[in-house]
Amino acid sequence: MNRFQRVIFRHVPVFLAVLGVGLIWANAPVSAFEPYSEEALRRHVTHLAGPPLEGRGDSSRKLVASELADHFAAAGLGPLFVDEQGKPSYFQVIPDKADETGHRPEFGRNVGAILPGSDPDLAGQYVIVGVHYDHLGMRNGETYYGADDNATGVAMLLELSRRLAERKDNTSKRTIVFVAFDLEERMLWGSRWFASHPPIELSQVQLFVTADMIGRSLGNLAKSVVFLLGVEHSNELEDVVGQLEIPLDLEVGRLGIDLVGTRSDYGPFRDRQVPFAFFSTGEHPDYHTPFDTPDKVEYAKLANICSCVEQLVTMAADSNVRFTWNRLPEYGLNEPQILKRLVQILLEADESHEKELTSVQRYLVTSVEARCNKVLANGELNEGDRAWLARMAQVLLLTVF
Ligand SMILES: [Zn+2]
Repeated sequence: MNRFQRVIFRHVPVFLAVLGVGLIWANAPVSAFEPYSEEALRRHVTHLAGPPLEGRGDSSRKLVASELADHFAAAGLGPLFVDEQGKPSYFQVIPDKADETGHRPEFGRNVGAILPGSDPDLAGQYVIVGVHYDHLGMRNGETYYGADDNATGVAMLLELSRRLAERKDNTSKRTIVFVAFDLEERMLWGSRWFASHPPIELSQVQLFVTADMIGRSLGNLAKSVVFLLGVEHSNELEDVVGQLEIPLDLEVGRLGIDLVGTRSDYGPFRDRQVPFAFFSTGEHPDYHTPFDTPDKVEYAKLANICSCVEQLVTMAADSNVRFTWNRLPEYGLNEPQILKRLVQILLEADESHEKELTSVQRYLVTSVEARCNKVLANGELNEGDRAWLARMAQVLLLTVF
């Protein structure tokens, strides 16, 4: 063995070790998505749902709007709207009804920013992320803080927009639009105004994503579950959702939007046949009470949901496929799967006395379980099963959880 061979030989174990680590590395699932900071999300929610902002009602909505615009500007995102003088603006003023003189005073304001797409052929198409920032304000001397509803959604928007704006060399092909809607609690007035006075061509919107209440759990019971609704209206969206890397502690439960009707800002976009996705962890006993406070938000769960939203937004913005609208929604087995899961959660809570079901509720729950099992065993959901399950799911959501 000459000196050269000795050197090589001595280094063989090192070489093999490096090769081995390299192979393991190459085979490990590599996540492109940095986790969201729970601390940053907690800071946003604590501020937005803190006493000084008085529940983001009439006394503070304008202040909140200006803070959101400052955030977009600091992130380096340009304004989405133009004002009456034709100058770029982060604000879209929403007028109230005319007074006796015909003047229309300001009722509220949407806040929006834009991240231009990098592909000349696709930059004229859009992905909108829109969440409402208003809440109920003060009532009878009590503050309705609205931590889950919807400081959690705004916290997601703030972190997501900052992160995407920071990706200097990796801008998405399509243009991404960030909007904080006002007046959702007044019959979606803010998103309805936006959709009827859009700053961009709505026919060019690839996807509208919204999140309303994404920091708690349905009935305080479905701890690992976030619901995703509306996907049944677009097959291309369905394909992208199938590629999401779901964080380990999270379950994404897919439901048809018809189960909940018009509950948030997707309404005006759905009505215009814009493909949409609605994230929500569902109602809980503190919903629309003064007890919806920042200390009750589950920040690790919120961070996981933010990661899903970011994946969906960037995949939709980069997809080579244009999303289309299914006039007739297409339901798969996702819905019976999550319904079966919810039934299990209820039966476990009943057994552990965390929540006592009445005999009627127990009968309902076990009937739903049996029908889900039948559908899942058949491997297909026919129209009759879907209609029955949809009715029962509404009863479960409204009267059992
Ligand atoms: Zn809300």
